[in-house]
Amino acid sequence: MVKGSAAASGIAVGKAFVLPDWEWDVPENVIDVSDLAFEFEKLHEGIRLSKTEIEAIKNDIADVLGVKESNIFDAHLAILEDPVFMNEVAAIMQRQYKAAEVAVKEVVDKFVNMFDLLDDEYMKERALDIKDVGTRLMKHLLGTMEPSQPPADQPYILVAKELTPSQFAHLDPAQLLGIVTTLGGTTSHTAIMARAMGIPFVFGFDTTVQTGELLIIDGDEGDVLIQPDEPTVEHYLEKKRTWLERRQKLQQIIGLPPITQDGRAVRLGANISTFKDLELALSYGASGVGLFRTEFLYMDRSSLPKEDEQFEVYRQVTEKLGGKSLIIRTLDIGGDKLLDYLPLPEEDNPALGYRAIRILLDRRDLFKTQLKAILRAGVYGDVKILYPMISSVEELRRAGEVLEQAKRELRELGAEFREQVDVGIMIEVPAAAVIADLLAQEVQFFSIGTNDLVQYVLTVDRMNEHIAHLYNPYHPAIIRMLKHTVEAAQRHGIPVGVCGELAGDVNALPIWLGLGVHDLSMSAHSILPVKNRLLESSEAVCRDQFERVLACRTSEEIRAVLGF
Ligand code: PEP
Ligand code: MG
Repeated sequence: MVKGSAAASGIAVGKAFVLPDWEWDVPENVIDVSDLAFEFEKLHEGIRLSKTEIEAIKNDIADVLGVKESNIFDAHLAILEDPVFMNEVAAIMQRQYKAAEVAVKEVVDKFVNMFDLLDDEYMKERALDIKDVGTRLMKHLLGTMEPSQPPADQPYILVAKELTPSQFAHLDPAQLLGIVTTLGGTTSHTAIMARAMGIPFVFGFDTTVQTGELLIIDGDEGDVLIQPDEPTVEHYLEKKRTWLERRQKLQQIIGLPPITQDGRAVRLGANISTFKDLELALSYGASGVGLFRTEFLYMDRSSLPKEDEQFEVYRQVTEKLGGKSLIIRTLDIGGDKLLDYLPLPEEDNPALGYRAIRILLDRRDLFKTQLKAILRAGVYGDVKILYPMISSVEELRRAGEVLEQAKRELRELGAEFREQVDVGIMIEVPAAAVIADLLAQEVQFFSIGTNDLVQYVLTVDRMNEHIAHLYNPYHPAIIRMLKHTVEAAQRHGIPVGVCGELAGDVNALPIWLGLGVHDLSMSAHSILPVKNRLLESSEAVCRDQFERVLACRTSEEIRAVLGF
């Protein structure tokens, strides 16, 4: 058994599909002149096999999706037939006496870098094509034969070095049993998406697995088992059945109002990215949507969504909510969420860099388009706007100017929109938490984003598996930061909710009740477990418990007081 870190609950048993990445470790030894003929033969055979494979995929795709979708593979074939590409490979082999795989890697790297540098979407896509073809060819040259696309018709456990949110968005959830990655973090957006979809996920796994090997992953313990024997498979299938039964049992509390034993009602809202998330959230009785992460509307496509398209999505979400409230967060890209068609500068510290509101205030066109779409959807229900990553009053005021401009333009057009829209901010940067009293005087509500707040307060990258053990929301510094923020909101009479992953952690419930936070928003799958805990809790007891938490000096003591 290999130990990783648990990122999304559940058990998966199935065959591995290893997602290849363009990182080939080929020794650069000079070959003997007498080996050149053999190397060329190897190269031509590799090209022949790659072409046969591509033709086969092309025909399969044409059968299923039509000829248009299969055309992409013509581009792949063209690369393998391109004289410029092939002449460069041949020249390196002949002049520098390098093996075929070394020459192919050099030429692919060169073209990929060249195209990547161009500020042109089309050329960037070509870089991806070249990498894809290069991967296929390299595998034949090196004698490893796994396919580079996951199977479309068989369930699999995805194994990858890293899986970005937009790569995730490409995968068919119907076949994806589970995910295992080397890099990642419990609050990485891929982990958040996996939890939202109920797909078990383990990261921090650094062992080689081959495509087709049987795997078991335990997303609660962070365990991965490779080629387990029959009794072990049976044991985990039994565990999976128990897990599903427990989940099933929780369905019985869907209809009950979310109140503590001593009568305190708590709103249990959902964090959503897609319509699917919304449907699941509503089926679990969510009180509304406390966080609509709109960045996923911008992903898995080739250009920015237009105002009307966004409006349509926001309107539909609003209507599906049938009067329940909807908090729409404006675009929060940067960090681990990137858009293929909106190149951002390479940064040494992306989490501390060009992200979220910083981009929006730079790209006012993009920001204003989104605000207009939200304002228009606001006519159809209880819609609120939430700004991500605010760190100063100035920043908030500048965002306010763009909002006013958006309203002015809608007014001039005579468009219908929500004039009196509530505006809130994420409290997820320590500076914002520290000046919460100042910010509270300028907005209608706060939403605490513990995912980023923990990363920034503890200076622990939420994406870095090497320091995942330091990512500790139960640190006294976090407790104090939360207390400071909530009290500032309460003093200034504005509502404060929590939408980070900690809101959906049953162990944290006494903290929220103790602090007087009655608005939690979480992944749909967490709603029933948190509600179950809420129904058994007493606010008065939680207040006492929280007083004791405040007196703790270490996280270990805090966990002991909270009983886990
Ligand atoms: C947060 O930071 O807690 C949050 C909810 O936002 P995201 O996870 O999308 O960064
Ligand atoms: Mg955040």
